[in-house]
Amino acid sequence: MNQADIFAAGAKRLQMTDSIEMTIQSLLAYGASHDHWGIAWSGGKDSSATLTLIIWLLDTGRVPRPQTLTVFYADTRQELLPLAHAAQQIIDELRERGIQVEVVTAPLDKRFMVYILGRGVPPPNNNTLRWCTRQIKIDPMQHALEQRISELDGQVLMITGVRQGESAIRDQRIEMSCSKDGAECGQGWYQKVLPEAKGLRGRLATLAPLLHWRVCHVWEWLRHWAPGAEFGDWSTAAIAEAYGGDEAEEINARTGCTGCPLVDSDMALDNILLNPQWAYLAPLKRIKPLWRELRLPKHRLRKAGLEILKSGKAAANPQRMGPLTFEARRMGLTTILDIQDEVNVAARAAGRPMVDLINTEEEARIRELIELGTWPDGWDGDEPIATTVMDTVYANGAVQPRLFSETEL
Ligand code: SF4
Repeated sequence: MNQADIFAAGAKRLQMTDSIEMTIQSLLAYGASHDHWGIAWSGGKDSSATLTLIIWLLDTGRVPRPQTLTVFYADTRQELLPLAHAAQQIIDELRERGIQVEVVTAPLDKRFMVYILGRGVPPPNNNTLRWCTRQIKIDPMQHALEQRISELDGQVLMITGVRQGESAIRDQRIEMSCSKDGAECGQGWYQKVLPEAKGLRGRLATLAPLLHWRVCHVWEWLRHWAPGAEFGDWSTAAIAEAYGGDEAEEINARTGCTGCPLVDSDMALDNILLNPQWAYLAPLKRIKPLWRELRLPKHRLRKAGLEILKSGKAAANPQRMGPLTFEARRMGLTTILDIQDEVNVAARAAGRPMVDLINTEEEARIRELIELGTWPDGWDGDEPIATTVMDTVYANGAVQPRLFSETEL
């Protein structure tokens, strides 16, 4: 079932109550045919607004309750601390209401830090090679959903926080990119990719009931409506606060991992640091430059010549750069642990929440993978460092001898 184009009859600027009314209508239209609902929640602004609004609508009888409701909190272990902190409070508030909350986390070896610093896979750098979203958000969510669905009869309606605003809906656009227009990383994927995933096909429908909301409505809900007793007494003001408090209405900030390598600037973190209460998180600003540094050739291996794939064909990108050297991984681990220590010393002194960038289990696993000499699939570790001067090899096998010897360079 496709969600209807709610702007087909001509657009007008929506007021808050109109927006909520349209959300109610979409839930009534699409929710009623599903006994089981799930909510994909990342702790960011759009999915937190979606979650708290829906619970309020159910609690007040404006929308009939489904037979079961499960909230899936996608804990990437990379969340910005103020948002992770607020999410924990909301989880407590949900559980106090008797709502089932499942915290969804990737298995140890697939987590962002372990995968990069232990296994040696370079940090992601563009949207086409974005292994991280799939690995730390989509796959764990798919697994949790498969588990849940196996316990239930019929189809599950997965509710996401995808929000595109008026113009994008008019253009029929649902962005998959997490780096545009303040979108929450992962929500577009939940909306589009999960229903087609093997194991879920035919068992999952998705609905984005805040699709039409303007960003100012999201801030209004999080800051003023949801925290009120009348609307559920939610701890959502801290989420808006994390994005810049009173200034938040002006900010269409994207939610994502701390130091996400894919965005041009750390806008969400920069806004958090403007708040004196969170200023002690400033060392986190060093994470993004670390990922950039680790992508440099001097920290990586490179295929020496033509690479023959398992299929017997030559790879399209000979001499591609690959994994991180052990030295680079150790340097990255030390840098992250130093940042973590620095933040937590300040946190302890001020009685503020501490960060948990790499926990003891993850650190032990990273060190173990390095000790075991682990390389990503397709790499043996005997490939040259990527700065090595080599003859140029083309995909057709042609070789262009290097013009200068190493000593001439
Ligand atoms: S926020 Fe950035 S690092 Fe995190 S999953 Fe999304 S693209 Fe990857």
